Amino acid sequence: MSRFDPHSHFDTDQPRTHRLALEIAVDFERQRVAGKARLDLGGPSSGPLDLDTKGLTIAAAATGAGAPIPFALGAEDPILGRRLRLDLPAHTAQVVITYETAPEAVGLQWLAPEQTAGKRHPFMFTQFQPIHARSMIPCQDTPIVRAPYRAAVTVPEGLTAVMSAGPSEAKAGGGGGRTLEFTMPQPVPSYLIALAVGDLTSRDLSPRSRVWAEHATADAAAYEFAGIEEMIHAAEQLFGPYEWDRYDMLVLPPSFPYGGMENPRMTFLTPTVLAGDRSLVDLVAHELAHSWTGNLVTNATMDHFWLNEGFTVWAERRILEALHGGEAAALGWAIGQNALDESLARFPADSPFTVLRTHLEGVDPDEVYSSIPYEKGARFVATLESAVGRERFDRFMRRYMDRFRFTSITTEEFVMFLEVELPGVAKRVDADAWLHRPGMPAGAPVFRSARLDALRVLAQGWAGGARPDPSETAGWNANELLLYLQHLPRPLDESSCRWLDARFALTRQGNYEILVEWLTIAAASDYEPVFPRIREVLTSVGRMKYLRPLYGALAGHPRTRRLAREVFDEAASGYHNLSRRVVESVMEKYVEG
Ligand SMILES: [Zn+2]
Repeated sequence: MSRFDPHSHFDTDQPRTHRLALEIAVDFERQRVAGKARLDLGGPSSGPLDLDTKGLTIAAAATGAGAPIPFALGAEDPILGRRLRLDLPAHTAQVVITYETAPEAVGLQWLAPEQTAGKRHPFMFTQFQPIHARSMIPCQDTPIVRAPYRAAVTVPEGLTAVMSAGPSEAKAGGGGGRTLEFTMPQPVPSYLIALAVGDLTSRDLSPRSRVWAEHATADAAAYEFAGIEEMIHAAEQLFGPYEWDRYDMLVLPPSFPYGGMENPRMTFLTPTVLAGDRSLVDLVAHELAHSWTGNLVTNATMDHFWLNEGFTVWAERRILEALHGGEAAALGWAIGQNALDESLARFPADSPFTVLRTHLEGVDPDEVYSSIPYEKGARFVATLESAVGRERFDRFMRRYMDRFRFTSITTEEFVMFLEVELPGVAKRVDADAWLHRPGMPAGAPVFRSARLDALRVLAQGWAGGARPDPSETAGWNANELLLYLQHLPRPLDESSCRWLDARFALTRQGNYEILVEWLTIAAASDYEPVFPRIREVLTSVGRMKYLRPLYGALAGHPRTRRLAREVFDEAASGYHNLSRRVVESVMEKYVEG
């Protein structure tokens, strides 16, 4: 027996899934997905086959020919779930498992009509990264195993389903529902399987891109992402042809816990990205970049997550630079620095969770999720880039993606490839310190620009009476205003808060990055006029990136601690499991009083 991924029961000595087919029905009343999963093993096999499950009820297991397969569920592990061991009879090439999910499945969120934009129909969506596919599908739930998939999904009449797969064909289904069929011809890891069901409509953006959303948000989404083709083109110039045929996007209801999820052919996005002025489309550059770094070349396990996110943040800023110039990219790096500093502050200085190549055996990856693999990882990639020069590094990146396309690799494989392609560079930049030691290495790159320096000086002069002049701020873009706010001292006194809000109309901001930065300053400053707006945001938006600082600021102040608890009690039932856990961990740090 040989287990390779600390977060999966997958055994490297056993057959692998070569192809997956799902035949499932989505039942909103019982909040369950039920049906069959068929796993093709690529040839005749026998003996044990271990799969991951979490909360699944297994009704039956059989071979492709219908012969029953003995099976047993192992003990529940709080992180891994339960191992499903099948005892394959001789010459088994296919297994068919009949099962259903639990209503509390961690990878699924069920929304009541009032939690959607349209308010009339329920909604369901999946989020399988890092290790939640097993709560909807009995599978080898590790990125090392990649398989193409097909799905036939039956949904209630009037609702539509989308998946991280090719466009669907609809047929009339049994029992008054509709069955939609999907095909993902390329091999993907289980965490990139995705499904959403709701009252959806779509708008075409280009011959290969379309945005899906609820009816109420479709036009706003089409406006926001109108420039997508230009962005795909810029990315192709940098990283080679787009390999996934279509780049479609889905705007989810506000409880979606992440900014975006790079589900191939169907990026999932938070509606908080719809600023109304296209000022937050940078997020799409990140998800799009994953089409190369992450989806094409994938981390083998969560211990190598930085390979996905570090390269993608670096790639995202190269796309921004290509589209908007070096100054825009420098502002992106500066905003990232702020996120990195906050994440470094969350963990002790010698924490094993601030290394890039982690060892997460026995650790829940959701518990230690942070900006470290993203921003420290991106700085490591940028360090490699500047050590060899951009042209040479770009050629290296093309060869890297060519060599490892549609595979899942470890940090060690990356380092070996680096040494072959760019000999001596790993040692020159002290790759060991980047990959294996906590915190930031000495000499980590600092991204500077004249604009950035001016904004920082202005913000840091606040206490000495420095105030930006309206003639100056009129030309600021959204990221400039955000950086200015990020560098202001806090807490601020009441008159300072009033001045800021009056000058920049912050409480009415449509750009959520700016709005939440402002509300966090205001909460930390005990500035009461914005409390209703904070409550409104916390009870409608479930994006973890916003919940963490807002609850942290409220709970950190003795006068608003009770308010934080009260708002959480009201909002918690509408949050995704992952969001709820983040807020609980923030609140645990503060004793109520
Ligand atoms: Zn990412």
